[in-house]
Amino acid sequence: MKLVALAGGVGGAKLANGLAQILPPKDLTIVVNTGDDFEHLGLYICPDLDTVCYTLAALANPETGWGRAEETHHALENIEKLGGENWFRLGDKDLATHIERSRRLREGQSLSRITRDLCRAWGVRPVILPMSDDPVRTIVDTLEYGELPFQEYFVQRKCEPKVTGFRFAGIEEAKPAPGVIEAISAADAIVICPSNPWVSINPILAVLQLRSTVHRPPSIVAISPIIGGQTVKGPAAKMFAELGIPPSALAVAEHYKNLLTGFILDHVDATLAPNVEHLNVQTCVTSTLMKTVSDQRQLAEDVLNFIQRLI
Ligand code: GDP
Repeated sequence: MKLVALAGGVGGAKLANGLAQILPPKDLTIVVNTGDDFEHLGLYICPDLDTVCYTLAALANPETGWGRAEETHHALENIEKLGGENWFRLGDKDLATHIERSRRLREGQSLSRITRDLCRAWGVRPVILPMSDDPVRTIVDTLEYGELPFQEYFVQRKCEPKVTGFRFAGIEEAKPAPGVIEAISAADAIVICPSNPWVSINPILAVLQLRSTVHRPPSIVAISPIIGGQTVKGPAAKMFAELGIPPSALAVAEHYKNLLTGFILDHVDATLAPNVEHLNVQTCVTSTLMKTVSDQRQLAEDVLNFIQRLI
């Protein structure tokens, strides 16, 4: 079975890693959000892309889910001593990625080509593609401060401002990265990973424009990032609530309803399955919390079995 997984950072990376344990590398393409990308300390940083790559390379920090394992912060400590900015935590090993990627981007190489080469160096075998080689920037509209660049909202202000909307600057001009549409056209299914629907998956869907760019989009299955009305990590539930939508797995299914063939929700939310089916979306109820690599693999197996039943 050939799959394309759409992923943001930590939640997306965990399921993508589970799928990578089961599928042959040639059958898995992971398309990653780049709306969180930004320039900082003169470097080009791709938080979601790096989280997915580090996770599949088994280099990620197991406590945070992002950044590198066994990391040190000597460079940042010294930048801080010089009066430089330190609100975005960049470890020494991680900095090497940003320095090398920034150097190659300045030479005119594309983000997708650089990502391919970094993945090769890290021994990652499935194809990981940025959603686009063109810059897209997520802007969060907030009650208190108006529009904030994503990392200013997410890291510097710790997701505290109240969200009133989102905008993806550059989205109209952005084209899917080379290989994205080809992978989707050849896929049996698209898996929308349990990532933030507003700021991780919406930018990818906005770039893909599935209805106009893909002749016959394959089946689409999403996994709820909201379990029991709460997020495992991050502001997705807070965002739903601030936008006036009670956060739940059902709210996620409704968010994607025009796209979905199937939806996977946690045992905790089993009573919501009939409501999801009323949306004309088939459901699968299983354990969706991934605390270990074996949980990632188990959920990936459940996803594949569910897709087998749908196609
Ligand atoms: P970010 O860019 O690092 O915030 O990453 P994502 O957008 O990929 O992931 C954030 C979302 O993943 C949050 O809404 C979490 O609730 C969800 N998430 C994280 N871990 C898990 C998990 O183990 N299971 C499920 N179902 N969702 C998860």
